[in-house]
Amino acid sequence: MSDDRFVFQEESDNIPPESPFNTDSYKPGKILTVDDDINYQKSLLYSLRDLVIKGKPVEILTANSAAEAARVLTQHDDIAIILLDVVMEQDDAGLRLVDTIRYVQGNALIRIILLTGQPGVAPRKEVMHKYDINEYWNKSEIDHDTLKSVIAANLRSWHSMYELEQARIGLQMVVDASRHLASKYDKKSFIQVVLKEIGYLIGGKNELTLCVAQVDSDNSYEKASFIAGVGISGVRPGEHLPDSLCDEFGQLCEHALREENHQFNHNRSVLYFCGNNEHSYCYMVLVKARQNLSDYHIHLLQVFSENISSGFMQLSLVNQLSKLAYQDTELRINNRNWLLRELNTMNTSDLNESELIILEIDQYDSRVLSFDEHSLCEAIKAIYLNINNTLKHSLAIARISVDGFAVLYNKQKAPTDSTLISLINQTYEINGYTIRYSFTIARIELALIQDLPALQQLHLARSLLCYARQQGNGVISYQPGYRDHLVRDYQYLSDLMTAIENQEFYLAFQPQVDIHNNHPVGLEALIRWKKNGKVILPGEFIPLAERTGLISKIDPIVVRLVADAIHHLKREGYQLPISFNATVKDISNPEYIQLVMDLIETENISSELFDIEITETQAMESYQDIHPVLEKLHDAGIHISIDDFGTGYSSLSHISQLAADTIKIDIAFVTHLDKDKASQKVVEMVINLASIFGFSVIAEGIETELQKQELIDRGCHIGQGFLYARPMPIDELLVWLGNNRTA
Ligand code: C2E
Ligand code: MG
Ligand code: MG
Repeated sequence: MSDDRFVFQEESDNIPPESPFNTDSYKPGKILTVDDDINYQKSLLYSLRDLVIKGKPVEILTANSAAEAARVLTQHDDIAIILLDVVMEQDDAGLRLVDTIRYVQGNALIRIILLTGQPGVAPRKEVMHKYDINEYWNKSEIDHDTLKSVIAANLRSWHSMYELEQARIGLQMVVDASRHLASKYDKKSFIQVVLKEIGYLIGGKNELTLCVAQVDSDNSYEKASFIAGVGISGVRPGEHLPDSLCDEFGQLCEHALREENHQFNHNRSVLYFCGNNEHSYCYMVLVKARQNLSDYHIHLLQVFSENISSGFMQLSLVNQLSKLAYQDTELRINNRNWLLRELNTMNTSDLNESELIILEIDQYDSRVLSFDEHSLCEAIKAIYLNINNTLKHSLAIARISVDGFAVLYNKQKAPTDSTLISLINQTYEINGYTIRYSFTIARIELALIQDLPALQQLHLARSLLCYARQQGNGVISYQPGYRDHLVRDYQYLSDLMTAIENQEFYLAFQPQVDIHNNHPVGLEALIRWKKNGKVILPGEFIPLAERTGLISKIDPIVVRLVADAIHHLKREGYQLPISFNATVKDISNPEYIQLVMDLIETENISSELFDIEITETQAMESYQDIHPVLEKLHDAGIHISIDDFGTGYSSLSHISQLAADTIKIDIAFVTHLDKDKASQKVVEMVINLASIFGFSVIAEGIETELQKQELIDRGCHIGQGFLYARPMPIDELLVWLGNNRTA
């Protein structure tokens, strides 16, 4: 025979070089002879006694019945050929065994050679047609030589089928392993899967030592940093490879790095993987098996390596993407998404120990327009460095918006308020510009808001910042009651919107009187909200309306109601000026001013009957913006009153220029006039100031005769207060006016 794969001993002992199986691990398939004729069995055994394949004897198993054969078959999964007698315990016992092997045991590989001494019982043609057998011989036809060549041929085909099956299983393993790889997007778990699957693919009984290391493009394997390993001790991630590995794998590693390719040598392999598209680093997987790797296993490793390679590339892409997703592109620090992820993944003990500090630049948008993009970018960098230097002990800093940073702190190491206050006002000299910034800062103990999802925690922090700005606070700390306050505000806001839609407002009028004779000289219109039958005073909703901008819807309603009241009073025979309260937002709103002007024009209202009140604080804070508008109104004959005077900080130069007619002394000073010297002084000063600049004076909140007398003594002539009348609806006002008619 000239078979170079399966040979009988006398023909060749050589190991074929192209064999995918190493001879030391290869075991030839077994042969099972099944016959109830003991003598025939003996002669078969004799014929096959010297059967050797690739230097290894072929094991022959025997059974004397179909039942026994079935048992043997279940105990050996490496039987290549069965020489099967047809007629045994039953006439068709052998044939039934064929079906059992093929359909019950599901063994499609085993070569079945039927041997019969009674061909008449099972005619060849019929049997070959009906049963899944490979050969059918009459015992009388098959001699020693024929048997040997039949066996050799069948062993050969079993072997190629076996190889194919192994390849299929190997491929399946690679596919499964690759599927496991594909689901890992972080380096650590990806590498764990690589190690595990390599172990699974080529390990088995072959004990493996595995190591994954990373090498920078300009470095040698000795500088490689260890990432993970199996069967390696004494080295930690990030450290260089231990000397023992360098000694064992040095040459292979050098080749792998130079040729950028996998290297296989007996029981050692180095797999090479490019780390990223720029080839700036690579990975090496060092594999050491106890036994030499077969070509089959090398082939599996190569196929699997293709997947590892694309996995590493994918990982590098994912890393880049995650950098984009979690890093601020300008400052290359964590961004808002990072913070959200961080907040979402914090456990209870982290939350209990951490504080979140949010810093936001004030009026960033308007500042942006004053500088070029480059300077702005430089400024943001300088701001970040300043924050980073000042808040040294932070856990992390993130840029969460163009104008905002978030800093995470361990509560024990959190900065004091005064450290934060030192950050509030900053000046930077950048590219010849002086850039000034101020910050508003909110600090929140995360334990207090841990019931909220991360996104809402950030929303809450932002709303706290807005609140701090409204309150004029540079640094604000979150208090547990703040959320209830927010919820109440929200409910109130939606009620207020409904009130605007449904016109639930009316005016109460408080007379302003000559305090010498109680004669009315004017009225102040004060808004009231009739909410579900209950009267709500403005102190409860006007501040919220101002904060949310709803005031620009409410105050125009007031102006219209004032115009209606003027007409109403006129019809009743009264012509009294009515003052009404306006805010800076109103005065700065051209539509509001136009409305006032239009009402004078179209409704034929004498302009001096309109008296617009603005508080001293607002008038002074926004003096530059509103001064021209007040002048315009004043020139049109409309009266202007400065409300709550004495509580703000007026500049004398502004007062002298102010387009106003009247100053209203704040209620607080009038209230304490009878006992408090300071209040008396303020009242005297205001009255003096008014007389110098030609303003008339109204004292607010007169409740007692004593207060009235003190005011008279200081030269005040006009006042309003509960002593004369409370604010009242127009019907009551008409009654009051009837009772206090001027003579
Ligand atoms: P204000 O303009 O200084 O109004 C005077 C406040 O003092 C009124 O309170 C009035 O009822 C109260 N008052 C008058 N005499 C006395 C007194 O003898 N004793 C005491 N304890 N209080 C007295 P009210 O009506 O609750 O209004 C509060 C504030 O709400 C007003 O202060 C004003 O700033 C604002 N406001 C009222 N109506 C409007 C409006 O239509 N628009 C805007 N933007 N604000 C309004
Ligand atoms: Mg007022
Ligand atoms: Mg007032």
